[in-house]
Amino acid sequence: MNLASEAPRKKGGQIYLLFGLVLVCAVVAAGWFYMRDRTAPSLTLTPSQGVVGASSSVQVAAEDTASGIRSLTVSMTRSGRTTVLLDKTYPDKPGAVSESIDLAAAELKDGTFEISAAATDGSIFNFGAGNKARASAELRYDSKPPSVSVASGTIYVKRGGTGVVAYTLSEPVQRTGVFVGDVFFPAYKRADGVYVCYYAFPYYVEFKDFAPAIEAEDLAGNERRRKLSLQPKDHEFRHDVINLPDSFLDSKMPDFEGIVPGEMTNLERFLKVNREVRKDNRAALIGIGRKTADLPLWQGAFQRMAGAPRAGFGDQRSYRYDGKEVDRQTHLGVDIASLQHYPVPAANDGVVVFADFMGIYGNCVIIDHGQGLQTLYAHLSEIGVALGETVAKGQIIGKTGVTGMAGGDHLHFGVLVSGIPVSPVEWWDAGWIRDNVTSKLP
Ligand SMILES: [Zn+2]
Repeated sequence: MNLASEAPRKKGGQIYLLFGLVLVCAVVAAGWFYMRDRTAPSLTLTPSQGVVGASSSVQVAAEDTASGIRSLTVSMTRSGRTTVLLDKTYPDKPGAVSESIDLAAAELKDGTFEISAAATDGSIFNFGAGNKARASAELRYDSKPPSVSVASGTIYVKRGGTGVVAYTLSEPVQRTGVFVGDVFFPAYKRADGVYVCYYAFPYYVEFKDFAPAIEAEDLAGNERRRKLSLQPKDHEFRHDVINLPDSFLDSKMPDFEGIVPGEMTNLERFLKVNREVRKDNRAALIGIGRKTADLPLWQGAFQRMAGAPRAGFGDQRSYRYDGKEVDRQTHLGVDIASLQHYPVPAANDGVVVFADFMGIYGNCVIIDHGQGLQTLYAHLSEIGVALGETVAKGQIIGKTGVTGMAGGDHLHFGVLVSGIPVSPVEWWDAGWIRDNVTSKLP
């Protein structure tokens, strides 16, 4: 036995074994690397269905956290013809990409088309080609805005008053109503397909600037504006002077320390309430105005609480302290004074959409009468109804008082059209309602 010759032979065997192991490892590693990502990227098209227009875009999003995105193509097929809208490669292979496809550039024609996308990841699987995901969506292209047919509407709309218009549209819409300047009054659709819209001739809009227009935006984003033909009537509002004696400020301002905190004089606090809190309260009315029934809940003339008229709608108030004018505001309801803590009736059938303290209005109830039409009762000493409660015309909803910015016991009664205050006088008048509202609704 030659022991000497054993050792080198064994050494050579070890080298082969090591080499073999390295080779096996390399093959396994390469295999693992090759097999590592066999999953296609995620790919989504938004929208994936429905209607699009010239102002629309289609979002294409692809994601692959394992190997990144190598390329993305998007194409459109219409009447058998395919057009490539995007063909992009990403040398950095980002984990996620998102592209916006501008449809105006696609020069589409009205009708259905298919949009398809393909995304490839950075994997070396499939002999280096990577994994591919495909997605497609059938969409309808609509370039035409809806057409508006006006059935009827109020002809004589008075400054500070209300108008109504009934109309139909040629196609479904995502938004429609009347614009007066930049104020939007939503329309409400009846079961017969007729849209009904109450709008205001807002007290602050000059006669020459009042040009209400129906606006309709279809599902593809195409917009139509159609000016209403009517005859507006101007109205001069009264001027009124309100003196602010220290006795009033001393008794009233402590109530507002919670809303307007901080060290300041009573007059300074009064001015903050009269300007800033008033503004906030009016903005809140717009939001409450959207909490409304699609159908009318009211019937006939609105009921007026018995009592003596005080301040009127639209009064231009000049506030004086120590003989000098310190503020100017517009009074946007009608003040009615009776006995102290007099029972307040609901002006018409409806649902309570607000019953709480609200800044200048004090304890306040707002009743919804449907289609954006609401009534407001302010300065109450007592609220007798709860949020969501259904009330009938004449039902007692609270008692008059002096809460909020009120000097003496009275009811501040307001009518709101989608949150914009209008003159209540028209709504108390059965003749006005017949001539300008009910006879105008088909
Ligand atoms: Zn008032």
